[in-house]
Amino acid sequence: MYSEEMTLARMVERRRDLHRYPETGWAEYRTTSKIAEALAAAGMDIRFTGDLIDPTSVMGRGTDNEAQEERAIRQGASPEIIKKMRGLTGLVAEVDTGCPGPLTALRFDIDSVDTTETEDPEHLPVICGFRSVNNGSMHACAHDGHAAVGMTLAEVISAERDSLRGKIRFIFQPAEEGARGGYAFLKAGSVDDADYFLTLHLGLGNPTGTVFGGTDGFLYSTKIDADYKGVGAHAGAEPQKGRNALLAAASAALPTSALRACSPNCRASSVSTARSLSRGLGRTAPATPSSGPAASGSARARARATRPACGTSASRARAARSAPPD
Ligand SMILES: [Zn+2]
Repeated sequence: MYSEEMTLARMVERRRDLHRYPETGWAEYRTTSKIAEALAAAGMDIRFTGDLIDPTSVMGRGTDNEAQEERAIRQGASPEIIKKMRGLTGLVAEVDTGCPGPLTALRFDIDSVDTTETEDPEHLPVICGFRSVNNGSMHACAHDGHAAVGMTLAEVISAERDSLRGKIRFIFQPAEEGARGGYAFLKAGSVDDADYFLTLHLGLGNPTGTVFGGTDGFLYSTKIDADYKGVGAHAGAEPQKGRNALLAAASAALPTSALRACSPNCRASSVSTARSLSRGLGRTAPATPSSGPAASGSARARARATRPACGTSASRARAARSAPPD
């Protein structure tokens, strides 16, 4: 029914297709459409995110969603499926084996990272023709692989339902980057009744084909946006009357990276990063800009009873290596 070669080839094909069309969190319209098509063809009932969650629990959604829907349709999404989404990406589908047993929930994240993919001619997606066509978006956190695995696994489990027990729920979750989409699904109770809950992440330095049951050393993240306000003044006539907001933000960004060494709990592992500073782009701005920049960054911390005392190079290096993009 399903040969290893068939499923592997299909996963590679799907992963490369999704990689070519990455979509940022809450804008995964094409991705959701492709997943819905595959699961419907496998005979699964689909519930779209718009029918599941409370819209007020959605965090960090863009304001250009209609344009994103149109872009997705141009890139191969089904207009009918887009309509059913009612503006919200992601979906849940379930296989009921008809035989009493546990409910197993499997979660796959589907969004991309907001970065531009390299054009290096040695880069495999460039060589094989599946480099991102959406400038500013790239599957740099393997969620294209996660979605491809989820789609193919759903097909296999649906086809093999007569030999299984219980129910298997597939959650294709939008907006994992920035820890946004998970909150909405959690609030909707999508895993409250699950006996088992499993998820996966690809990559990070292990040989292809190696599977680890569980991971260690990863840090949770909290995002902080800070707006700096100063006092404007003429750059040439009276710069001494200004209060430079840009300078204040830049000064604050530097010691932010040292916060990990100053944790009040010496048995904790943490890392803090100033992610971006932004202000106007003009070169003729006053020397003492009165507003902005907005500084955004993240602080990650996770208590670890077995972590070596903070301040050792080993613990700091481990923390830095362990921090995922989001
Ligand atoms: Zn990821």
